[in-house]
Amino acid sequence: MGTSNIIVYVPPTLFSIVALAFFLLWQMKIISAWQWSAGFAQTAAGFALSTFSIEPAFDAFSSGLIFIGAAYCYGSGLLSHFGAQRMRRGRGLFVASYTLTLVYVVFVRGSLVYQLLLTDAGFAFLLGLVVFVVARKASRPVDKALIAASAVVVLDSVVRTIFFTFFTTSSDNLADFAGSTYNLAVHVSTITVCMIFPFTALGAIASAAIERHRAEAERDPLTGLLNRRGFENVLEENARSEPLSGAVLVCDIDHFKRINDGYGHAVGDRVIVALAGDLQCAFGAAGYVARVGGEEFVAFIPGVTLQDATSLANMLRISFGGRAWAKLGIAEGATVSIGVSEVILSDRTLEHALLRADEALYSAKSAGRNVVVTREATSANPVEQTNELSYLRER
Ligand code: GH3
Ligand code: MG
Ligand code: MG
Repeated sequence: MGTSNIIVYVPPTLFSIVALAFFLLWQMKIISAWQWSAGFAQTAAGFALSTFSIEPAFDAFSSGLIFIGAAYCYGSGLLSHFGAQRMRRGRGLFVASYTLTLVYVVFVRGSLVYQLLLTDAGFAFLLGLVVFVVARKASRPVDKALIAASAVVVLDSVVRTIFFTFFTTSSDNLADFAGSTYNLAVHVSTITVCMIFPFTALGAIASAAIERHRAEAERDPLTGLLNRRGFENVLEENARSEPLSGAVLVCDIDHFKRINDGYGHAVGDRVIVALAGDLQCAFGAAGYVARVGGEEFVAFIPGVTLQDATSLANMLRISFGGRAWAKLGIAEGATVSIGVSEVILSDRTLEHALLRADEALYSAKSAGRNVVVTREATSANPVEQTNELSYLRER
């Protein structure tokens, strides 16, 4: 059966387009995209070589190398996508011994059947090993789809290996490859089932990149805590499942401008990071902590009473003030003032509770700083009379 029809142009064209798409993603700083781009570019080159043959032994050797190179790159793409170890040494050793065997099969034996068997089996093993390693790490639907698509590609190679090695009587002459049934079968299976592979890979790495950017947009780079937007989003998600209850804290470092002016911005940053660490230690496991301004932080602790929250806030204030500030070169030390309030049922969002805590913080500042002031929610909550106020947005 000849393959000198339009079908032979489809795989190199499609894989070139996919390689280009991944290349563009790489240009957009999605690092792992280059491995996929290299894999699909090699696949495109392998198919092009089977269409525009140069010299039989050269074609057989080059395509054998190109397809194993593609399998290596796909494997690297999968391993980095799932954050697994790269297994560079083991996979490199496999590629080296495969290459030596390929030299023997093509240049010594001159056997087409063995070359195809070797390449298909090598491809299936190299990619299959990685699929096996990363399969357990796939939790999102798009990642499971990528594992399934990769498994289909491996299976395609295995089935072809078994079928053409054991159940057909093909020519063993390297020169007969282009017009072989094998070549046609590769094109057909690639165009039909195997094309899901590049598209699921594209979907998986694009959605991972979007998630990563979203997560970064919700974090403060200096402290690693949630930022204002992240805090809002997390609370919105929480409020959806059950009514919010517990306590909120608003913290502000005392006379921070003096620290900045006296010791420099870098030392100021270290004081901010220190308070972030203390807050995360105290409330991170049970609640949510965010940096919402220069040296201003908020925390929400679900389910805690106002009294307990006040005690915890006091412990935090004392431990922060008692840090070894002299080691940082801050002779007069650093302290924090904290306002605390409770979240009551009529607070449909945390906004009202945060406003009360903020008022308590101002009282703490007026009272001389380095104190915790608590503000209970009263039934005649003055904050509830204003419906346009948004603590988080207007500060
Ligand atoms: P108070 O006790 O009343 O809170 O006095 P304060 O000096 O702390 O006053 P304020 O809270 O207004 O000072 C905030 C300062 O924080 C002003 C700004 O220069 C500084 N700042 C804001 N962001 C950063 C930052 O990322 N790093 C550093 N080092 N300083 C920052
Ligand atoms: Mg401030
Ligand atoms: Mg301050």
